[in-house]
Amino acid sequence: MVESSLPQHTQQAQEIIERLLPHTGNSIRIGITGVPGVGKSTFIDVFGTHVANLGKRVAVLAIDPSSTISKGSILGDKTRMDNLVNHRNAYIRPTASGSALGGVAKATGESILLCEAAGFDVVIVETVGVGQSETTVKNLTDFFLLLMLAGAGDELQGMKRGIMEMADLLLINKADGDNLDKAQSAAQQYRQALHLFPATDNGWIPKADICSAYTKEGINKCWQVIEQFVTEQKINNYFQQNRQQQQLYAFRETLQQQVLHHLLHSPKTLSLIKVAEADIMQQRMSSYNAAQQVAAAILKR
Ligand code: GDP
Repeated sequence: MVESSLPQHTQQAQEIIERLLPHTGNSIRIGITGVPGVGKSTFIDVFGTHVANLGKRVAVLAIDPSSTISKGSILGDKTRMDNLVNHRNAYIRPTASGSALGGVAKATGESILLCEAAGFDVVIVETVGVGQSETTVKNLTDFFLLLMLAGAGDELQGMKRGIMEMADLLLINKADGDNLDKAQSAAQQYRQALHLFPATDNGWIPKADICSAYTKEGINKCWQVIEQFVTEQKINNYFQQNRQQQQLYAFRETLQQQVLHHLLHSPKTLSLIKVAEADIMQQRMSSYNAAQQVAAAILKR
């Protein structure tokens, strides 16, 4: 229901969420990202099973940006997480879909709340490393894990820097067999690079390490790092502060989207836009000037 865009569902879902709110918030929310093929689903299968075996209830949600962009799916088509899916402590929701990324964020944010109210201790939100979706996940989770590969040629390149700066932990995945040495030296390089990043407000120094879903190297350590993070952040109060900031962010984003949608979709505005677009195509007016005039007309009403 929280994923549905039918008005009657939206209203019912809101009521359910409001009533469940007092029972939410008690999980560790972990965001996991990385490029297709880096090993996200295999990692989550093994990592999730490890945590579920510790007696924790684990939920996995996935944001698949490809389904909103191309209507196809990068995450959804594969058989995924065969072990975890059969674990009694686990729940897996393949993909939150939505007509826009804003809709995906809302559906996922509300799904997190539902999982918490249902008693899950750990909620993993997975996304593929494309476009805007990492920011969405970062803004919905407490801990952000980036999976990377050694020797993919992008070790310290600027391209990944934005995402690297969001990460609390960076794991060089597939550190097994012939790949182990390369992975270790990549982790070492990243460790040095992470020290050069500006210090974060919460006092956490991002970590870099290796892992393998095949040998289970680094799996338990990853969970220990997350537990350490949560303990530290709760002591210095940043855990709650971060969640409050995220709630405010979601509020502001949604407000902006709603107001924009309302303003831009009235029949009068739509006809103004149509005229302006014709003027632009005919080179009668510059794009900027046209936008300013339409904005002025909307705001005058
Ligand atoms: P995703 O697209 O990021 O979800 O990646 P997958 O989990 O589907 O993995 C992509 C490929 O990498 C598959 O063929 C996996 O078998 C392989 N793979 C995943 N984890 C590991 C690992 O720890 N070590 C090695 N050597 N291969 C792995």
